[in-house]
Amino acid sequence: MTGPLKKVIIVGAGPSGLLLALRLAQQHIKVTIFEATPAPSDQPRATHYGIPAVWELRRAGVLEEMRKDPECFQFDVMCWRKLDGTYLSGMDTRDLNRPGKPYDDRITVLTLNKVIKVLGEMVAKCEDATVKYGYKVLAGVEQDEEKAWVTVQSQDGTVEKHWADYIVGCDGASSQIRRSLFGDMEFPGYTWDHQIVATNTYYDFHKYGWEDSNFIVHPEHSFMAARIGATEPLWRVTYTEVNGLTNEEILARQAKKFEIMLPGHPKPGDYKVILTSPYKIHQRCATSFRVGRYLLAADAAHLCNPFGGLGLTGGIVDVGGLADCLIGIHQGKTSDKILDEYSRVRIEKYKTIIDPISSENFRRLWDQDPEKALEKDEFLKLLKNNEGNVELSSQMQLGSLGILHDFSASFDGNKPAGSLSEKRFQSKL
Ligand SMILES: Cc1cc2nc3c(=O)[nH]c(=O)nc-3n(C[C@H](O)[C@H](O)[C@H](O)COP(=O)(O)OP(=O)(O)OC[C@H]3O[C@@H](n4cnc5c(N)ncnc54)[C@H](O)[C@@H]3O)c2cc1C
Repeated sequence: MTGPLKKVIIVGAGPSGLLLALRLAQQHIKVTIFEATPAPSDQPRATHYGIPAVWELRRAGVLEEMRKDPECFQFDVMCWRKLDGTYLSGMDTRDLNRPGKPYDDRITVLTLNKVIKVLGEMVAKCEDATVKYGYKVLAGVEQDEEKAWVTVQSQDGTVEKHWADYIVGCDGASSQIRRSLFGDMEFPGYTWDHQIVATNTYYDFHKYGWEDSNFIVHPEHSFMAARIGATEPLWRVTYTEVNGLTNEEILARQAKKFEIMLPGHPKPGDYKVILTSPYKIHQRCATSFRVGRYLLAADAAHLCNPFGGLGLTGGIVDVGGLADCLIGIHQGKTSDKILDEYSRVRIEKYKTIIDPISSENFRRLWDQDPEKALEKDEFLKLLKNNEGNVELSSQMQLGSLGILHDFSASFDGNKPAGSLSEKRFQSKL
């Protein structure tokens, strides 16, 4: 099918669903989001958006709005340390922004609830987008040559059926759309043996000479401490915990963990934890991101652990590519076969880049002897041996652009789409 789309339904008003709605509505494609919860989520999840995500957020006009929030910033240095705080090696993101070679799309920090707020406000201003909170999409798949349907239940129990040209599952890790398409248990991959506990904590790590983002290598007490407040000492402290603990047990152990982990070995009262949330973490990818008129994107399609910030970054890149494909179909520039390409390429990007790199980032923290990390860990060794090498540091950081893909390069049907180089994406800014 090619030609004007009458309507797209998106399931889920998380960051990926809202961004997709925004991109489509900006091109006057009518879009409705059904969101199960009555209001946007406030859970402590994403905070750091990688360079490819920043590129996507910029071209949708979102980055500019995010930057109006005084707490939004670009962080400077990420590093790896031993539990006693000893610096192992690191990377300076300012290497990307040099005189004569300015680069404004460095990793950007803003808590997800604020990004969702920005996206929600932008979508609300679009005439062609409607967000319906308190509408849960129920199990079921129904489609024919022209349309697909979803059944939704509103909070008062009313059940309605809605149709669209395409239905996109942006409904997160437990995606109903994915389960309806493939079955409740079919999400290939695995769950890690460690669970993680994410906290938002007021504590002055800078006082101890710590960098903006610190990854602590230790078999038992690995954690990340990353600044998430631009004007206040608010930090994301995310630590690994043994699986199987109840929430009460996690909270009961937290003071002791913080005393062991944090620089200065603080007691409760020396810091203030304002949010704690345990998460099971997974590496999983759906077998296809397209079944006819149903599509999947972001967490509904694939999951990875959050160390290295590739989760939503990968999801935002899915959404950018999918929006390009749907807009291309709408404008008659390509056929719906491009959606098979979307599925194929995004799965390949997950399997060849996102899954291996995020897994390595996580294992690096607890699956090695911190005393031998600088001898045995090739990545940390590379960073250590090239301290001050601005060119290499820039190249390594821009390597993350490899998860982007320009689907519009296939629109004429002649040439296969290729992974875009940083230069080509830069030229699109
Ligand atoms: C501790 C932690 C830290 C993280 N940090 C980072 C980071 O720094 N950088 C990064 O890139 N990623 C990070 N991530 C990952 C990131 O938060 C997720 O990838 C992202 O939130 C996924 O967005 P989404 O829109 O796909 O799904 P969600 O945010 O899960 O949104 C899905 C929405 O769909 C709705 N929904 C579900 N089922 C239905 C239904 N049946 N009907 C209607 N609506 C439905 C839900 O209510 C929800 O609002 C982190 C994750 C965790 C857990």
